Amino acid sequence: MKRRMKLVFIGPPGVGKGTYAQAVSQRFQIPHISTGDIFREEVKRGSELGRKVQYYLERGLLVPDEIVVEVVKARLSQDDCRRGFILDGFPRTLAQAEALEGFAPPDLVLNFVADDSVIVERLSGRRVCSKCGAIYHVKYMPPRFPGTCDKCGAPLVVRKDDRPEVIAERLALYREQFSPIISYYERRGKLVTISANAQAPEVIPVVISTIERFLRGRGQL
Ligand code: AMP
Repeated sequence: MKRRMKLVFIGPPGVGKGTYAQAVSQRFQIPHISTGDIFREEVKRGSELGRKVQYYLERGLLVPDEIVVEVVKARLSQDDCRRGFILDGFPRTLAQAEALEGFAPPDLVLNFVADDSVIVERLSGRRVCSKCGAIYHVKYMPPRFPGTCDKCGAPLVVRKDDRPEVIAERLALYREQFSPIISYYERRGKLVTISANAQAPEVIPVVISTIERFLRGRGQL
């Protein structure tokens, strides 16, 4: 049987979602699709879409559902998604969740949780490659050469919204935004909650085995 696995990753900023998504993407050969990354890239390129969404990104506001849904629909129709995908940062509203259910209903939604103190420590040490988007942590996942990306050699930067003064605000916003979506998937029996208090090398195997268990249940492993 051809395996197709449509995953949604949900979790507060700093829970390590991007890191787990990279690992799952490699292990199962499915793309990691982050709507935030897509929008940032479009803004950087100055494309028409970039110009449309820049206003919202700069203010930390949600991009309107119609725009996001179209972007995701187009991305999921690309060839590299035929064996599935990992969505990260989408859906972010109930309307987006309902739209997704219509064109690419997820098989499994992984809900990552961690204590606030853990999240604050992770976010304030996070560094992101200014060119390829690879993620590091000054303490837990340092690059080989400080301030430089291992993969492409570009400088690492602190994301604007990882500054300590805005972290608490982002966490509160996350809870408010995502609790209806978490309930939505819980009601549909698609939600699995994974504790991410431990470091990535311990969490990743749990994530992989959760997905494998799911695939085995469907006779796809
Ligand atoms: P993120 O990197 O996921 O925090 O996303 C960065 C920004 O992109 C957000 O603050 C929003 O402005 C926009 N964005 C990303 N994903 C979505 C989405 N699913 N719906 C609306 N806006 C989004």
